[in-house]
Amino acid sequence: MEKSEGASSLSLSQPKGPENEGAVFESWQKILSLIQKELSERSFQTWFGGLRCLGLTLQEVTLGVPDSFYGNWLQEHYHDLIRSSAQEVLGVRPEVIYRVVSPPQNTVSPKPVDARPTLEAKDLGLNPNYVFENFVVGPGSRFAYAAACAVTDEPAKHYNPLFIYGRVGLGKTHLMQSIALETKRRSPEKKILYISSEKFTNQLIAAIQGRSTHQFRTRFRGLDLLLIDDIHFISGKEATQEEFFHTFNTLYDAHKQIVMSSDRSPRDIPGLEERLVSRFAWGLVTDIQPPDFETRVAILRKKLEKHSVRVSDEVLFYIAERIQSNVRELEGALVRLIAFASLNNIAIDLFLAERVLGDSFKEEGQKVGIEEIQRKVAEFFGLRVGDLRAHRWTKPIAQARRVAMYLVREVTRSPLGEIGEYFGGRDPATVFRACKQVESQLVSDERIKSILTAIKGSFCQD
Ligand code: ADP
Ligand code: MG
Repeated sequence: MEKSEGASSLSLSQPKGPENEGAVFESWQKILSLIQKELSERSFQTWFGGLRCLGLTLQEVTLGVPDSFYGNWLQEHYHDLIRSSAQEVLGVRPEVIYRVVSPPQNTVSPKPVDARPTLEAKDLGLNPNYVFENFVVGPGSRFAYAAACAVTDEPAKHYNPLFIYGRVGLGKTHLMQSIALETKRRSPEKKILYISSEKFTNQLIAAIQGRSTHQFRTRFRGLDLLLIDDIHFISGKEATQEEFFHTFNTLYDAHKQIVMSSDRSPRDIPGLEERLVSRFAWGLVTDIQPPDFETRVAILRKKLEKHSVRVSDEVLFYIAERIQSNVRELEGALVRLIAFASLNNIAIDLFLAERVLGDSFKEEGQKVGIEEIQRKVAEFFGLRVGDLRAHRWTKPIAQARRVAMYLVREVTRSPLGEIGEYFGGRDPATVFRACKQVESQLVSDERIKSILTAIKGSFCQD
């Protein structure tokens, strides 16, 4: 990394570069404030809040970024802005270098910008707490968050449709409602509808029965912004898919923004027509991953802001260490603890947390879900989860799929039909045959026994 030596070797007629750390800091702050003027507060906080200036000369600005995704994003979207802002401060146009530094800056929690849009929430029938300002961004959600901001800032321009997927309780509904609320706040005249795909289906059925499909269509096709939550519920429902296909096309052609969420990617939704699968991927498909430890602590702190009670870091760490995969449960544990303490009028400390939450942690530890098993099996066989669900057939995939079905049945005791749903909508008989096949292999094949033991062993390691 070059520092002031490079700058001081310049001839006197050239503009001088910052010579020491203090000057570097000051110049960088000036550059930052120019950048800030050009961006919305949220974009600025997301992309520049976690940035460190590692070096600054007349030739080169070196920026420390938490990961390569972050660096690539800056390069693609803000490279010119950084260079020209630096030019204004330094007098020359330096190169910009992005370097991944550790430890990563894990969380960026945007400052509250304005009051909660209670009015908008009432209007749209949404949760007033589900606003961008209350969403804590971490490495697993940074991309989805940035995409949600982008469609709010410039609807139907960059990512249409926007498709966000991830396991339950990771903030999909929160992000979708944030887009709706913020759009309404900025443009009250816009027609916005947030709806679950289940409701969409029910309303369609009611319209068909009441012979009012025309009104139904007009209502949906006249929107400026349509957000459909949990779109995977339309899987296997032909009439709903047909109707949604036309709604989608009309809105898309009219340059109206569409946002969808699901528990899995379009390709992995069983029983979804190919023409919808391909349309869903026209814009941006992005996932949300469970938050890491630092983000979980930051989320707990954020949730605490609503309660006028102090909870020590020790207790927050205790909760964040034990609930790892679901933000809703994370929040639930905190709320339970606060309620217990206030009802009994006692202080919250580690001892109380262990007493109140100990049992629920045991339950969480024991629960292994179908998706978790699919993930572990796929990992073991070097496949993608999508391969297990897809209808493709090769010998190794078929064997892995059978093992996965068998394990799901053994561990979760779920009904065959439900298991089939998770494997690309296969029928119960197929699942039954797969389980029987593995059972008979177990009698004669030692290898399959050790495969099953190894995979089961990996369940508790996350
Ligand atoms: P999903 O729709 O993915 O199942 P939700 O959006 O309903 O999840 O989120 C569940 C709960 O967790 C909500 O109360 C939401 O506010 C909270 N939550 C999820 N992710 C975050 C986050 N990154 N920051 C703050 N709260 C979050
Ligand atoms: Mg949801």
